[in-house]
Amino acid sequence: MKAIRVREFGPPEAMRIEEAPDPSPGPGQVLVRVRAAGVNPVETYIRSGAYARRPTLPYTPGHDAAGIVEAVGDGVMGIAAGDRVYTSETVTGAYAELALCSATRVHPLPASVSYAQGAAVGVPYATAWRALFQRVRAVPGETVLVHGASGGVGIAAVQIARAAGLRVFGTAGTAEGIALVLRERAHAVFDHRSLSYMEEAVAATGGRGFDVILEMLANVNLPRDLKALAMGGRVVVIGNRGTVEIDPRDAMARDASVVGMSLFNISDADRAVVHAALVAGLENGTLRPVIGREMPLSAAPESHVAVMSPGARGKIVLLP
Ligand code: NAP
Repeated sequence: MKAIRVREFGPPEAMRIEEAPDPSPGPGQVLVRVRAAGVNPVETYIRSGAYARRPTLPYTPGHDAAGIVEAVGDGVMGIAAGDRVYTSETVTGAYAELALCSATRVHPLPASVSYAQGAAVGVPYATAWRALFQRVRAVPGETVLVHGASGGVGIAAVQIARAAGLRVFGTAGTAEGIALVLRERAHAVFDHRSLSYMEEAVAATGGRGFDVILEMLANVNLPRDLKALAMGGRVVVIGNRGTVEIDPRDAMARDASVVGMSLFNISDADRAVVHAALVAGLENGTLRPVIGREMPLSAAPESHVAVMSPGARGKIVLLP
């Protein structure tokens, strides 16, 4: 099979397309023929060598794939060759023609959802669902700010929160991103490049502030987030690229909480809950992953530059 391989941690060009042996499924494993692979920011951090989790070299990047089951190993129940599926993690890497996965990380892909869309589900939608319902227990009627709503996690969060009956506000940094988040039915969207957008966003809640903020860039926004919370408000730190100084009094004054999350910490039981909910949402059409860009597998280096560039407008996927 063709696969992207990283032989040394480094810049995007450290990823090269190579011929690799076809994997075969062992007990409890599923082999997926990949039709699309999702590109997530975390895969750039891992490839650079700067991330806490460093795979053994050489390795194939990627967590999220969608495709067709090629074969299943002994003991796998409920998944069969020919099934359409998406993955939430792989053993051998998603940026490849074939991906070996644990059966617990393979989920049904409804016929109405394309493979490119399926490749946008694993990390982004699971992150958004876990942030909202497992980390801060958002409930219908609450007000949420998706701070960075135009990217993979942000669009997922807007759709999930909207379907659950929350009042949904978002931010994006370009006119195209703002239009996209509005199309995905956020109640209001603000430009996070403008100087006054947080004041405008709080004013749009009638001055009450947000019950929940999903934060994609905490090192920039956390101090302002704390001032924008309602009484008892909660911030979930999803994305962060540096350090920041906050005034803890802003949290005290609102009985507020700041919680972190890493999807890598999710338990098997919680993961099963998340994907049961996501598959239902894909089936009933409330979850509709938005593809911003499709690129050939050989363009993996360019895809890593693109995912770290401003101006998100949905998910970047690689097509083997
Ligand atoms: P993405 O598709 O690249 O989107 C990035 C988002 O951040 C875009 O909406 C972008 O908006 C927005 N952004 C840029 N500048 C911002 C600012 N000043 N304030 C608020 N938002 C800003 O990435 P993603 O897949 O959605 O992931 C988002 C972040 O979450 C990344 O840092 C990623 O590493 C992290 N993440 C964490 C977990 C976890 O388990 N904790 C899981 C998944 C992702 P514009 O481009 O429109 O400016």
